[in-house]
Amino acid sequence: MSNGNEGRNLHFIEEIVEEDIRTGKHGGRILTRFPPEPNGYLHIGHAKSICLNFGLAKKYNGKCNLRFDDTNPVTEDVEYVDSIKEDIRWLGFDWEDREFFASDYFQQLFDWAILLIKKGVAYVDDCSADEVSASRGTPTRPGKESPFRNRSVEENLDLFIRMSKGEFPDGTKVLRAKIDMASPNMHMRDPVMYRIKHAHHHRTGDKWCIYPMYDYAHGQCDFIENITHSVCTLEFEVHKPLYDWFLDNIIDDPGVNKSRTRQYEFARLNLNYTVMSKRMLLKLVKENYVNGWDDPRMPTISGLRRRGYTSGSIRDFADRVGVAKRENIIDIGLLEFCIREDLNKKAQRLMAVINPLKVVIENYPEGVTEELEAVNNPEDESMGTRKVPFSRVIYIEKDDFMEEPPKKFFRLSPGSEVRLRYAYFMKCTDVVKNGAGEITELRCTYDPESKGGKSPDGRKVKSTIHWVSAEHAIEAEVRLYDRLFVKENPYEAEEGKTFVDNLNPDSLKTVTGYIEPFAKGSKPLDKFQFERIGYFCLDPDSSGNKLIFNRTVTLKDSWAKITSKEC
Ligand code: ATP
Ligand code: MG
Repeated sequence: MSNGNEGRNLHFIEEIVEEDIRTGKHGGRILTRFPPEPNGYLHIGHAKSICLNFGLAKKYNGKCNLRFDDTNPVTEDVEYVDSIKEDIRWLGFDWEDREFFASDYFQQLFDWAILLIKKGVAYVDDCSADEVSASRGTPTRPGKESPFRNRSVEENLDLFIRMSKGEFPDGTKVLRAKIDMASPNMHMRDPVMYRIKHAHHHRTGDKWCIYPMYDYAHGQCDFIENITHSVCTLEFEVHKPLYDWFLDNIIDDPGVNKSRTRQYEFARLNLNYTVMSKRMLLKLVKENYVNGWDDPRMPTISGLRRRGYTSGSIRDFADRVGVAKRENIIDIGLLEFCIREDLNKKAQRLMAVINPLKVVIENYPEGVTEELEAVNNPEDESMGTRKVPFSRVIYIEKDDFMEEPPKKFFRLSPGSEVRLRYAYFMKCTDVVKNGAGEITELRCTYDPESKGGKSPDGRKVKSTIHWVSAEHAIEAEVRLYDRLFVKENPYEAEEGKTFVDNLNPDSLKTVTGYIEPFAKGSKPLDKFQFERIGYFCLDPDSSGNKLIFNRTVTLKDSWAKITSKEC
């Protein structure tokens, strides 16, 4: 498997890793990790992090652990654990037997908390969550010390152990690190280490009723697993002194400390026209703005997969985005570019009509079917050819006909001649309308001498259009997806509104399409280019007698066209 980055410059984390290998830090060993919290499905931002962490391990002969940060049983679920594993595998990465959970270390984290209490650097606080956060201060104003800050070691030990035994209700006590309420770094102002949650955990069951905070768990988990390079997003840069503080207080061995995990931060991936916060994505799912986490409009990995994205195109995208040190917003057009690039090379071509206009070819014999040869993929000869049935009645796209064409319209119009792809030259002789004056049918003639679309006498036609034989075409549901949000920055909502008010009301349009019979045997997620329309894939909800096609992406960037017209 190519990671697609051959030949590009090293990014800054690769430079660090190469330098560490050169100087023999960590004995040349490279161990990264991907640490998702199982409280939602993974999105394209996570894909970036997966490609980076697993990619580094792969490139430098190292390993990458999968570690679930399952420290909050209230929001976490096995459904999410399973989906995360499926998505990482699908992206093409393998954690082998290194599947870990922060909950595997709950006992160790608890023992270290006891150690910190004994050292006099952790205390039990009876303040409520609100009181704790109100006494935090602001970045420019120091916080206030809790009245419980100076409890004796004995009292703290007794209370913490009783907390762990379930003697106190949720929210009545927390364990805090005793650091510095005046620190300019807010994360150092006596952060909470443990809170009481009488909640069932998907792995530890009812064993614990106190759970460590992410900030108390994360650095120690990296340490326990001997992670060499802990790669995370920029917002964690300010947490680093806290992670170091915990480890400095827990480990007293200079030898161990020297080869301790180092944390490196990169800019999280932001994409326009979508949101990437799990909280917001969960709201879209829970409140039925979309049809589940894998709705093809979602920026989730499962949504993109169902939409027809390939894992290769996502890896390519992650690579092109690069690894930045500063926040930026990537144009969703780049993701669409990557999938077009990939599908152009791989996708089977088909003819399909999604807005049909009936055409009767009057000089074509009734009851006859011809099998015409069509190329499966002009980019890849090895994909061969197929037969497409042709008969007297066909469908063409409504848009390919104009009764009163403007000057530059070269497709079909009364009296004009076009090429039917892989078939014949065809001329429009008559237009049939209903009582309301709407065009219901065209009458045409074809040139039997132009088989295969070849000119019999050197005369030229200015346009080639696609078609399907009405009698042979398969009727299918075609889902035309568009961007989920109308606003480039959906997080920005007007006064009194929220991000859901920025949803694109036309993000899904369902039509009936007529597709050449080749599509009959397709399997879920099989990918096609419907010629001149776009890339599509077969939705997994399809059944033998009802095919559903999802539009992955249009052939060209239709939004770019609209924007440039508007400008
Ligand atoms: P969210 O903010 O959507 O809830 P999160 O950061 O809380 O996401 P985690 O499950 O904790 O989600 O993330 C797992 C890993 O993925 C972390 O290392 C995190 O830094 C990384 N990650 C999350 N979002 C992005 C993103 N947009 N770009 C790059 N990496 C990301
Ligand atoms: Mg997180």
